[in-house]
Amino acid sequence: MNDILLKKVKALISIRVVFITLLLGSFFVLQVGYRSFPYPRATANLIVALYSLTIIYSLLTERIKSYFTFAYFQVFMDVAAVNVLVYLTGGIESWFSFIMLLTVMAASAVLNRKAGYVIATFSSIIYGVMIDLQYYKLLPIKYDPALNEKDFLYNIFVHISSLYMVAFLSGYLSSRLEKTTMALEQTDSDLKELSLFNRELIESIPSGIFTTDIEGNILIFNKAAEDITGITRENAFNRKATVLFPFMAHDTGGSAGIERVEGVITHNREGSRTINLTVSPHMDVAGIKTGFTGIFQDITTLKKMEADIKRKEKWAAVGELSANIAHEIRNPLASLKGAIEMLREDLVAKEQKERLTEIALQEMDRLNEIITDFLMYSAPRAAEFSNFDLNSVLDDTLELLKNTVSVKNNISISKDIDMPLFINADRQKMHQVFLNLGMNALEAMPGGGELSVSSRRAGSSFEVVFKDTGVGIPQENIEKIFYPFFTTKDEGTGLGLAIAYRIIEEHRGKMTVASNPGGGAIFKVIIPDNGKS
Ligand code: ADP
Ligand code: MG
Repeated sequence: MNDILLKKVKALISIRVVFITLLLGSFFVLQVGYRSFPYPRATANLIVALYSLTIIYSLLTERIKSYFTFAYFQVFMDVAAVNVLVYLTGGIESWFSFIMLLTVMAASAVLNRKAGYVIATFSSIIYGVMIDLQYYKLLPIKYDPALNEKDFLYNIFVHISSLYMVAFLSGYLSSRLEKTTMALEQTDSDLKELSLFNRELIESIPSGIFTTDIEGNILIFNKAAEDITGITRENAFNRKATVLFPFMAHDTGGSAGIERVEGVITHNREGSRTINLTVSPHMDVAGIKTGFTGIFQDITTLKKMEADIKRKEKWAAVGELSANIAHEIRNPLASLKGAIEMLREDLVAKEQKERLTEIALQEMDRLNEIITDFLMYSAPRAAEFSNFDLNSVLDDTLELLKNTVSVKNNISISKDIDMPLFINADRQKMHQVFLNLGMNALEAMPGGGELSVSSRRAGSSFEVVFKDTGVGIPQENIEKIFYPFFTTKDEGTGLGLAIAYRIIEEHRGKMTVASNPGGGAIFKVIIPDNGKS
């Protein structure tokens, strides 16, 4: 604020010099009306005094503390000087009374509105008194005898009203100007603060941030970006973003959407780093693309952790699987061992020997079955796709199932599969799936019941449903029945559904189950039509 006032005071001094020089100097140089001045010598002295005052003002300017008082002092002095000049140049007949108006303007502009009125009042009083005194011939200034009382009154009235008018106008203007200037300054400082805030924000964000122009040349590269990439801001500046991040697809004016990529960069000090980068175009207010913004994080540690966890999970699964296999194999091995040990003792009777041999062979078969099933699960042969009628496979399966149930089982099997359904799949594997589902259904109905099988085309998929009226599956087991070795049966291996599930996955299909304990189970197999049948 003080700086502005200082500037104004300096301007006031300079303008005054110019004014004195131009206006009064020219009178002397050109000798215009010089002779008509009643006191030419005194006028010359006044001008010299004003010049000297200006020099004093200039010297004081650097030393003064209150520019406000200083400026007030100057305008008061100006009013005094003008009135002296008016006095010297004929009072009511002087040409110079208009300078008082300029002084009022100066007061408004340099100081404030109020100062304008103060100076207008001061000028009015001095001028009024002077003209009055002149009228009453108390001052030694002559005037044209043709001027009467009215002329004097009118002259004073015109001067006073113009002085106040000018004070009002210039005060209004200067206060408007001040307000606008203040508002502008505020906006300016707001803007500065905002941009500072932006910069600080961008710098302190832990993610790497860069922006580019429309050609993809880097403009902003924050601190985190430097840390993650190991590239300094100076080196990154004006280089193509696609050079620093070769895996990013965005190029000059490329696609408009947001791109998320993961890639590896080489950090010059610390080897390679995996980063996760999101690039989005940025637009100006008119919606025209002006460049790109990229935000990226260093996910090297995260990736390592993820891989560690995956590895651990894998080993945990392998461990569980191994424990389950061992458990499954140990039971038949134990009875096999028992049977052979008894056979070694010669004491057993002949028919008992046959029985023991029978058990031993059975257990060996069972071992073989477990291992075959397990291999089918863990190392399945690759699917061989061919075109066939899904319903014919279902027919074969149901035929096989019917042979395993005797009449006394009290089980009926019904089917709803008339139309041929041509599919492109692995026939043998599909057969395996249906057989496993069918066997499970029969095994779930020890006291008899009904198995109904249906197949249909549902949109672009094939749907096969096995529905039984057996024991059902308790809620807590629903999740587990597809795990290898999960079984609730003494003779079960727990591999049937696991194998079926894998086969369906291999065909990009889905298998769902719905069941109420005691209310049977519904297994639904959905296989998408791969369009090759
Ligand atoms: P397994 O038949 O050798 O037990 P599966 O993987 O075929 O192994 O089945 C796993 C388990 O899922 C079965 O032990 C049984 O508890 C349950 N389950 C499968 N199908 C049915 C069904 N239709 N009704 C009731 N429970 C079933
Ligand atoms: Mg089974």
